Parts: sequence; structure tokens; C-alpha cells
Amino acid sequence: MFEVILGLEVHVQLNTNSKLFCSCATSFGEEPNTNVCPTCLGLPGALPVLNKEAVHKAIMLGTALKSQINKKSIFNRKNYFYPDLPNGYQISQFEVPVVGLGELTIDFEDGSSKTIGVTRAHLENDAGKNIHAGDVSHVDLNRAGTPLLEIVSEPDMRSSEEAILYLKKLHSIVRYLGISDANMQEGSFRCDVNVSIRPKGDEKLYTRCEIKNMNSFKFIEKAIKYEVNRQIEAWEDGVYEDEVFQETRLYDPDKDETRSMRGKEDAADYRYFPDPDLLPLVITDEMMEKYSQIPELPDEKKERFVNDYKIKEYDASVVTASVEMANFFDEMMKEEITGKNAVTWLTVELQGRLKETSIENSPITAKKLAEVVKNIENSTISGKAAKEVLDFLIENPEEEVEAVIEKLGLKQVSDDGALLSMIDEILAANEDKVAEYKSGKEKMFAFFVGQTMKASKGTANPQKVSQLLKERLS
Ligand code: ZN
Ligand code: MN
Repeated sequence: MFEVILGLEVHVQLNTNSKLFCSCATSFGEEPNTNVCPTCLGLPGALPVLNKEAVHKAIMLGTALKSQINKKSIFNRKNYFYPDLPNGYQISQFEVPVVGLGELTIDFEDGSSKTIGVTRAHLENDAGKNIHAGDVSHVDLNRAGTPLLEIVSEPDMRSSEEAILYLKKLHSIVRYLGISDANMQEGSFRCDVNVSIRPKGDEKLYTRCEIKNMNSFKFIEKAIKYEVNRQIEAWEDGVYEDEVFQETRLYDPDKDETRSMRGKEDAADYRYFPDPDLLPLVITDEMMEKYSQIPELPDEKKERFVNDYKIKEYDASVVTASVEMANFFDEMMKEEITGKNAVTWLTVELQGRLKETSIENSPITAKKLAEVVKNIENSTISGKAAKEVLDFLIENPEEEVEAVIEKLGLKQVSDDGALLSMIDEILAANEDKVAEYKSGKEKMFAFFVGQTMKASKGTANPQKVSQLLKERLS
């Protein structure tokens, strides 16, 4: 039996306005090579100037991960050659990163949790992009110099499930902090996974393979599963030493397999040395004070929702999974509706209707959805009618809830007079059934309720109908 050892390195693109060491814009999707200047083109003599905003965002993340923040850290040159790296080195941090040891807690569905160590987070600049078109390759340097925060975990995860929970939690924290859009398709949140196995009970770490540059939770999970199986099979077939090396592998989603890309360099291969163009990064007490004031994080929000809105732990984790959803829910609760109903109408009714559309693009505001719920709670409309109201509002988002209820004629009749005259008519038309009921056939009661609901075209308040019927029949 084997144990799986996983460690993750996540590159988060910080959403600063300008690049890490120059004032070029970081906007995505521009004409190739338009967001460039002598510094990010690596022209001789151009000097880097550190963007403070990136440092502030690093402090925020460090605070969220309860990390030690280093008052003084160093920028190093990481030397390697690649066409999309005009300097011939990346500016990164090596021995002393800005963010030191911290932790992140993951929660399992059964309610248990586990704390994963976060080794460090360091600032570095991104490379450009090589674009391959048939026989020629192009280089776009718009991305070169964009600020990245690389977050490195301890090898604490023991399954692909744990790795995905860690990634989703980190993704959510980054979004709550607002330090990155963490858009995975655009590569603003991408992940390298270090995978190794060992016989259960063994303490030593065996050879790890690194699967590089993945940006989909689904593919990361599949890549880990494939790679774990490959290593286990090699071990069982007695060819572990021949087939498992320290190397960089790529995951191919079309074939669902990992393939060797290159032998993994050791740190020594990069000839790291302090960048002589940059002073040590010093974090002052004022900066610490200011940027360690971070917004409410998913775990705190969850606890507040459970306590204040009396919703279940599980429901709270569903509505706090994304910051947009959590804010939407919080907004709904301002209308003083029941937490449980708010959860259902948000996560089942509204989300079910939005399908692929994410909540931040919902045509219906939180306030309107809450008003719909409120109208059920005060018996103005039935739950069934509320669904009609919601359907109508999605098509006509500019309409007001009250007006829609009126327009669709869905208001429940709770007015005693109107209901009583309907009931009297029904009882008069069914004297035989009234007699049966009075002789003990209690099942007939449901018949009278049904007839009244029908006569009111579904708008009668059923509780009210029952109550009035009982009075009339007693
Ligand atoms: Zn530039
Ligand atoms: Mn990196």
C-alpha cells in the first residue's frame, strides 16, 4: 500500500495596474508587444523600480495565511534562457521571500478539517508568451514583467481531493482579498504539482515529479491521478528507478496522461544571486499596520452566517465558496428573511435558472430575490407562484416584484370575506359530501380544500382555507 505525497506551487497574477518593475499596463488581451518599455524588454541600461502595490498585496495574502512576514527580503536573479524571457533571468526571491511560513485549513465534506503548511510566498515577474503558428513562432512580451505571487505549500497533501480543496480554498481567499482576478482560463491562477509516492509507514521522501502549469481544477485532479498511478505501477513492476526521475512533466488533457518535458533543474542550475539593481525590500511598520487590515475571509464569513443567520454549516460553506455569492447572500439577508429560505432561493432556484451565468451577472438583484422570498414568508404568494415571479423577473429584470405579483394575478386571497363566499358556494353545491364528512368521513376535508383552491385559481392561501373550512364545517 502506498501513500501519496503532494506539494503545490501556485502562481497568482496580482491585479496591480502596472507591472512589477516598470510602469507598463498589465491589461490582458492587448495587441502583442504594445504594453512594453525598455525595462520589461530587458534593454541594456534600463533599471527596475519596484511596484509597491504588489508588496501591499503580498502582505495581505501573508496576513490571510497567518504567515510570518519578513521585514526585509531580497530579490534574486534566476538565470535561464528562453525566448519569452528577454533579460535572460527572472527577478524572483530565493533565500528570503517576502512571506514566510504560514498555513491554510481545508474542510472536508464530513465536517472534519486539516491544516496544510504554506512554506512561503514570494514576488517575481512573469515571462512573456511564445505563440506558435505553423512553421514560425512569435513572442509577445505584453505579459513580461507582470507581478506574480508564487505560493509554495509543504508536501502535506495526501490525495488529489486534498490538493483540490487546498487550491479551491486558496483561490477563494485570493478573490476575497481582491488581490487577483484569479481567472484560471487567462492563467491568472496556475498551478504546479509535485507528486511522489512511498510505501505506507515509510518516513522518507522518494523522487518527486513536477507537473507544470495547469489552470483547471478538473485537469489538475486528473493529472495527479494519472501520475500517481504511473509511479505506483512502476514500483510494482520493479522499474521505479528506471521510470521515475526528478523531472518536469506536462499534462495532456486530450490523452489524459503526463509526459516528460525536461529533466528538473536543481536550484543550483539557476545560479541565483541577489539582483544588484534592486535594494532589499523593506516592509515598514506603517505598511504592515495598513495592509494587514484585510477583508472578512471565507472561514469568518461562514461562522458569521451560521451564527447570525442560523443556517447550517454545510449551507454556509456553499454560500461562502465565492465572494460574489457570499456578498449576494449577505445583501439578501438585509431584507430580514429566514436564512434557510434565502439559501434555497439563492442556490437552488436562482442558480438553477442562471445555469452557466455566474452570480455576479445575475439579472436579478439580491434585494429583489429577497423580496420574492419575503412575499412567500408573509403569505402574499405561494412558493409555486414565487417560481413564476422569478421566471418572469429573469426575463424582465427591470420590473418590480410587487408589480409582477399584481400583473400575474398571483396574490394569495387571504381576505376572509372573499374566501368564505367561495367556500359557502362549494359547500352548498356538494351537500351530499358535506353529509358524508359530518358522518365521520374525514377524508372529504381534502376535497373541500382542493375545490376552494381550484375556485380561487390557486391564489387562495391554503392555511387560511383550512382554517375557514374547519369553522364552517364544525
Ligand atoms: Zn515595461
Ligand atoms: Mn515561479
